[in-house]
This record gives sequence, C-alpha cells and structure tokens, in this order.
Amino acid sequence: MKAEIISIGTELLLGHIINTNAAYLSGKFAALGIDLYYQTTVGDNPERLTQAIKRALIRSDIVILTGGLGPTIDDITMESISLLTGKPLIPNRAVAKDIARYFKSRGLRPSRGNEKQSRVPEGARCLRNKFGTAPALIIEYLGKVVICLPGPPREMEPLFEDEVARYLNEKFRSESVIVTRTIKTVGLAESQVNAIVKDLLKLPPPTTVGIYAKLREVHLVIMAKAKSPRRARLAIAIIEKKILTRLKSHVFGYDDDTLESAVGEILKAKRLTLSVAESCTGGLITKRLTDISGSSKFFMTGIVTYSDESKENFLGVPDALIKKHGVVSRQVCKEMALGIKHFACTDIGIGITGIAGPAGGSARKPVGLVYIALATDRKRIVREFRFKGSRQDIRWQASQAALDMIRLNA
Ligand code: ATP
Ligand code: MG
Repeated sequence: MKAEIISIGTELLLGHIINTNAAYLSGKFAALGIDLYYQTTVGDNPERLTQAIKRALIRSDIVILTGGLGPTIDDITMESISLLTGKPLIPNRAVAKDIARYFKSRGLRPSRGNEKQSRVPEGARCLRNKFGTAPALIIEYLGKVVICLPGPPREMEPLFEDEVARYLNEKFRSESVIVTRTIKTVGLAESQVNAIVKDLLKLPPPTTVGIYAKLREVHLVIMAKAKSPRRARLAIAIIEKKILTRLKSHVFGYDDDTLESAVGEILKAKRLTLSVAESCTGGLITKRLTDISGSSKFFMTGIVTYSDESKENFLGVPDALIKKHGVVSRQVCKEMALGIKHFACTDIGIGITGIAGPAGGSARKPVGLVYIALATDRKRIVREFRFKGSRQDIRWQASQAALDMIRLNA
C-alpha cells in the first residue's frame, strides 16, 4: 500500500507558511504502517493541481490532499477532482446543513461561496467538519482512494484523527505497524552521542535508530516495524535498554517530554522550590518553566535583572564586585544566584549572566560567554560556557544549560 500527500496552496510555495500538514500526515501514515513515498506541493492552479493528482493516482494507492476546499475562487480542489474522475459536482444536503448550522451558531450569514462548498463529486463520502465549513471527502476511484481535507490544521487534524484514520485502518489494515520511541539527551554533542551509539545507528530494518541534533539536545529515535504494536514495543525496549546503559544520566526524557518538563517533574517529586535571576536570557528560563501547567508548585520567582543597578538593587550584588570583575563574571553570577535564593526564600537559586551578542563582545569576554550559577543550602556551583550562534541561539543554549544544571543538582 502506497500513499502520497499533495499540499495545495500558493502561500506554501511562496514560503509564507510552513507545511505542517504534510509533516503531521507523514507521521500518521508511518504510525498506520502505510508507506508514504511522495509529497508534492502545488499552488492554487487548476492545471498543475490536476497534473499532480493524475500523476499521484498512477503511482500511489492513496492520495491525500490538503487545502483548496474553501469557499473562494482560488479553492479549486473539488473542480480538479471532478474533472479528473468525470464525477459531476452535485449538491450534498448533509454538507449544506452542516454549513448552515456552522453559520447560524456564529450569528453569521453564509455567502455564495459557501453554497459552492456544499457541491461535492458524485459518490463521494463526506466527513463532518466540526471546526469549519469546508467539507472533507473520501472518493474511491478505480481501486484507488482520494482523500480531501481542509487546509487549516485545526480543521484538518481532528478530521484525520476522528474519521480518516479509522477509514484507512479498516480499509487498508496493514500487515505491520510502525512504532517510534524518541530518547532525548542533553549535555553531549551530536558527535559524542554518535560515537557512543555508533553500532546501533547501523542497525538494519525492521528496527532502526536515527540521530537528530537540536540546540544542546540530541534525540535518538528508535523505529520498529512489526506485526503488532506489542512486538514493535518489545523490539524497541531491547534497543532502548542498550541506549540507556550507555548514555545514563544524559537521558532526560522520552517522546513529548521537554527539558523543562523533566526539570519540573524532578522538582515536584523532591518538593523543591526554585527562583531564577536572569540577565542575558531575558526571562527565557522563567518562560520555559512557567509554560508547564502546575509549575507554581515549584517555581516561585523569576526576575530579569538586566542592568548593573538592578543586580545591585534586587539581588544585592555589591557595586564593587561588578566594578572589579565585570558584570559578566563568575563572581557576579554566584552573587546573583545567592541573592535570588535569599530574596525568594527558595531551595534553589539560579543566576545567569552573559553576552548574547551580536554586539558587546571583547577579546577577553567574547560573544557567547555565559556564566550560570546554582545555589542550594549545600551547593554553590558556577559554570562557564562559550556558546556559538545567533543571539537567539545563544540565549536558547544558555537556558538549556541552566535547566540541565537544575536537573543534575536538584
Ligand atoms: P478555507 O476554508 O480556510 O479556505 P481551505 O481548505 O481552502 O480552507 P486553504 O485556503 O488552502 O484551505 O488554506 C487555508 C489556511 O490553512 C492557510 O492560509 C493556512 O493558514 C492553512 N494551511 C493550508 N495548508 C496548510 C499546510 N499544508 N500546512 C499548514 N497550514 C496550512
Ligand atoms: Mg481557501
């Protein structure tokens, strides 16, 4: 069984929006065990769209299209499919009703374009779109399947989840399933992780391992194809165990875990409280930690002390210390951590000061130089980092390093 995706929209070709629909659908097909060989993106142009569908129908069994189902003139998916399959567009009462209900519940009047939306190729199976007006369709044609979904992800995703996945599962129940497991590590470079798991990266299918580098984070994705999810998970468990014994404490989480969520779990489990005094990260660590629902259990205070004066006034860093060592220094950083810990009365205090660039560096204190300090009742740790990259990259890496220090020292 072979599938392919056609993403429709000139804005995709112009780079105005990112094709998240194709990424989403690719993941879903992998999970269903259906091979996906092609992804095509076409603009809102009837000839080129028709060509793309024609070609897809020759080489694939399932063609899934997103976009171009709306009420406007540039929404051409239905016409193209009608033209290609020779199935006329006929009004569909259920779709018309859904559209009328959609407008009524919002106190709006439908336009003529919405009438157009209720006309679908003869024999098509219409799927109910609870989040918009564009209908979604499944059209069976000469032993192949064409699936049309609306472009907006908030409409497309529930439609796929609620309706299309079930249809595909029933119709093309695959001999095998693909299960993936992502192991997330921090504190090692990609080359280091690569060296540690080199042999595993060469494993032949059906169980493979891939390596993906992020900023100060490396992910290993184990993918197993098997007759059942249980067998796939068993195959994954064997490799996972090997990876864990080799990477040990560098592993901070799995799948949807984030570094901040891992830190949050640790602090909650240990009933520890945290406060943060940030300079060069401008509140990023505070933001990341407070993105977690329920973070008020462990996160007490975060302040951005950006100027020398605010470091003095809010954290009690002595003016003389700043003058002597400079504001980006081991000594000042340590006082920031101690200051916020004392001021917020928490178990852990974090101080962070550095040069995010692109301006402001010097030979002795280059852009990317960042100090991070952690203070607990028993520990005083200050670490020096030299990050590379853009201002955003440096800030992100600094927040990663700070979160990892909390993870390892809480
Ligand atoms: P509508 O009724 O909203 O017009 P539609 O099915 O006609 O729905 P499009 O007009 O092609 O869809 O796209 C509508 C919006 O959906 C786009 O402006 C974009 O925000 C989003 N969108 C479309 N295709 C994609 C895609 N492949 N990935 C991510 N977002 C997309
Ligand atoms: Mg549209």
